[in-house]
Amino acid sequence: MLVLLNGPPASGKSTIADHLVATRPLALRLDIDVVRGLLGDWLERPTDAGLAARALAISMARTHLAAGHDVFVPQFLGRQEFIDELAALAVETGSTFVEIALVLDRAAARTAFAERSADPKNDTHRDAAALVEQSGGTSAVDQMFDRYEALLAQRSSAIRIDVERGDIDAIVHAVEGVLSIAASRSARPERARSSHFSISHAPTDYRCPFCRNIGDGTSDLPLEFVHRDDDVVVKMNPNWWPNNPGSVLVIPTGHHENIYELPDRLAIPVHRAARNAAVAMKVAFGCDAVSTRQHNEPAGNQTVWHFHLHVFPRWENDDLYGTRDAPADEAELRDLARQLRAAWPAATAT
Ligand SMILES: [Zn+2]
Repeated sequence: MLVLLNGPPASGKSTIADHLVATRPLALRLDIDVVRGLLGDWLERPTDAGLAARALAISMARTHLAAGHDVFVPQFLGRQEFIDELAALAVETGSTFVEIALVLDRAAARTAFAERSADPKNDTHRDAAALVEQSGGTSAVDQMFDRYEALLAQRSSAIRIDVERGDIDAIVHAVEGVLSIAASRSARPERARSSHFSISHAPTDYRCPFCRNIGDGTSDLPLEFVHRDDDVVVKMNPNWWPNNPGSVLVIPTGHHENIYELPDRLAIPVHRAARNAAVAMKVAFGCDAVSTRQHNEPAGNQTVWHFHLHVFPRWENDDLYGTRDAPADEAELRDLARQLRAAWPAATAT
């Protein structure tokens, strides 16, 4: 889960973030002002330092979310761009994004800011005071508020929580309530996830033959589709094992190199197509059996860098695993494709 705690100075976001991570082992409190403070001479270059700190924060959050941990970002944001970046990162990592906007009375914020500047309690307070002083003192606090109000007017997905200074327990309770609702929503099974594990053997200039087959229907080898829908195609394998003519390949229409990165949402379309191919082979060929196999990486006999699942018609003593493939006879390939298309099961309600 990726949680943005947005709010003006003195709305309590840092203290709330401390409470939230205290009860969540390995959760990351990702304070962008702290990251910015790690940069040399940042106060002299606040704009560049802010951009660099945000870029670093995104990388840190990506790493931690991919490892399955929660990330809390207590940060005042008066513009949408970085919020959009966080939302995109959540999609990329299959995480739930929760945007919380702490809403504080303007007069209370002014008072709090003046108190903090006079008596800073930590480096973050000191840094914030220095930055605000540099950009015009307390009028800068008013400008922040104006920006924040304009932002919230556009952020319909933000969950607003009214805060009163000092009442941290009540705010933490409200935030925990929001997070538990978000967590129960994300536990629903229709959430699309992938493994975040990625290994590639495709050369950088790889021109994927399957993407070409699917994209414009061209091929250097005999090409016969037996089935196609939005998610997968099934085509005749142009190479056949000698005793198993008529084998096919189930191929996702999107380019995913191997099983490690195959998204959850393709599990059903790939399986459904493999089952329908198996049924069509039984009906069309009257084969004794059906086998599937699927290869990943060179040591796993993968030679085309786009995920595909083989479906083979099997015969008694066909020695599939003891023989090698060779180019199929084109006329026979086109004839068997026609037979499979004719025997393809009609769609059924699932
Ligand atoms: Zn491809």
